[in-house]
Amino acid sequence: MDNLGLLLWSYYKYKHLYRFKSRKQLEQWQNRKIRSFMERIVPKSRYYSKLYAGLDIGNWQEFPMINKQSMMDNFSDLNTYGIEKEEAMKVAFEAEKSRDFSPQIRDVTVGLSSGTSGNRGLFLASPSERATWAGAILAKALPDGIFVKERIAFFLRANSNLYEAVDSSRISFKFFDLLKPIDEQVDELNKYQPSILVAPPSMLRILAERVEDKSLIISCKKVISVAEVLEKIDNEFIRETFNQTVHQVYQATEGFLATTCRNGTLHLNEDIVCVQKEYIDKASGRFIPIITDFSRTTQPILRYRLNDILIEKREKCSCGSCFTAIEAIEGRTDDIFYAKAKDSDKMVGIFPDFIRREVIMTSPQISEYKVNQVSTVQLEVYLKLEDGVDTDIIKSMLSKNLKKLFDDYNCCVPQIKFIDRYEPVKGNKLRRIERKFDIGP
Ligand SMILES: [Zn+2]
Repeated sequence: MDNLGLLLWSYYKYKHLYRFKSRKQLEQWQNRKIRSFMERIVPKSRYYSKLYAGLDIGNWQEFPMINKQSMMDNFSDLNTYGIEKEEAMKVAFEAEKSRDFSPQIRDVTVGLSSGTSGNRGLFLASPSERATWAGAILAKALPDGIFVKERIAFFLRANSNLYEAVDSSRISFKFFDLLKPIDEQVDELNKYQPSILVAPPSMLRILAERVEDKSLIISCKKVISVAEVLEKIDNEFIRETFNQTVHQVYQATEGFLATTCRNGTLHLNEDIVCVQKEYIDKASGRFIPIITDFSRTTQPILRYRLNDILIEKREKCSCGSCFTAIEAIEGRTDDIFYAKAKDSDKMVGIFPDFIRREVIMTSPQISEYKVNQVSTVQLEVYLKLEDGVDTDIIKSMLSKNLKKLFDDYNCCVPQIKFIDRYEPVKGNKLRRIERKFDIGP
């Protein structure tokens, strides 16, 4: 099958074919899928072959878990294409730097994410996986199906030719670079007139403000929040301004994990990934997802423990889906930093993802970090580096990069203070990028 054929087949499967009457039926189906998937894929991955040596696939639910760390540590052996980690890293890094997002190794797309844990994740997708992914996302996110014309505006930190797989004659797709100034984006949006608007909630909020002051005049039929936690307060503001439910797509390097149904309830995509729940607090329904993707073959994701904490919804969703309904994603937070503009009293917002980006682009040897904005003129930075790294060089590079970021935003450049340790407050969720002071209304 060619890639368009695959896309359409995938669309059809996720839209019409995979229908389940009950949890039991779904779980039996998943179990069958995963067993045959593992039988086929595990022998092709040196890493999993070794990890699962001597184990009975019938018992896959109990297999050893992996996480981002072990996936990255064993990247070269884990993927089934023989792609070396160093090569993939280099290609993805170059793409971020040049902002030319068509990096491939042979025909495999390579992407880099900052990740929720602060560690970068690499992902690989073959052309057929890209087509399948595009079909799935269209099936789950398009309000009126694939045969109605749509114009999709997509705000992202980094484009990926993963997304361009979606571009076709009916569905037009435009990437908006989050690094560009907001006024430019508003002009472009006014011209483009998207029917579907996809952006991180912090950006949706800014766009909603532009709708309120009438500098942005668009009428979208669907607004989709991605990449950051959709906080209640933002959700309400965006919903009221755009006068519609704010939908969500929850996607990570690890896979296409959840989407909202027509009611706006977030459901796990259990027709793509199997999610085992490691409860950390059963009473409140908080759990850590352990995911097994039974469609990705280039970079198999099996029994992978995410860093996110999800909260299960108690009540059944009235849409009738038997896929687990999610109350909230607790683990991904967004904290916009604010600084005073150089030439006025205006406060300018800087997205956490940009701070994050500066940190991870400074050095691949930063294994952990925390950046707090303690006031509009001061940042506090904690770094944990790999052994044997010259700390002072990295600190001075990061300092320079962060200052440049503020400068690029035409903001007063903050003081940067490095701290040797930080104590996470027990019970609080970990926020690697955190604003520690309140900003006026
Ligand atoms: Zn629902």
